[in-house]
Amino acid sequence: MGVKRRLAAFHLEVDPIACDGFGHCHELAPELVALDEWGYPIITPEPIGASDPALTSARYAVRGCPRQALRLERVKDAESRR
Ligand code: SF4
Repeated sequence: MGVKRRLAAFHLEVDPIACDGFGHCHELAPELVALDEWGYPIITPEPIGASDPALTSARYAVRGCPRQALRLERVKDAESRR
């Protein structure tokens, strides 16, 4: 008996076609987004836990992306698209 609680994990996804490469997401979530030599984001492959403080940064980055090129997906959703 009892309730099993599944804690969600999330992953940032970038649409490379929509991305303008100005790196605003790196400024908003430097712990999750690095930049390549041209300024395009390199997203950390580690999933972000639901209780991880980095999830707040990830949400800021998604909201702050001027091209709507970033999205936050549950890990299971992100894996099923690959
Ligand atoms: S903020 Fe958005 S458009 Fe700008 S580099 Fe990051 S993903 Fe690309």
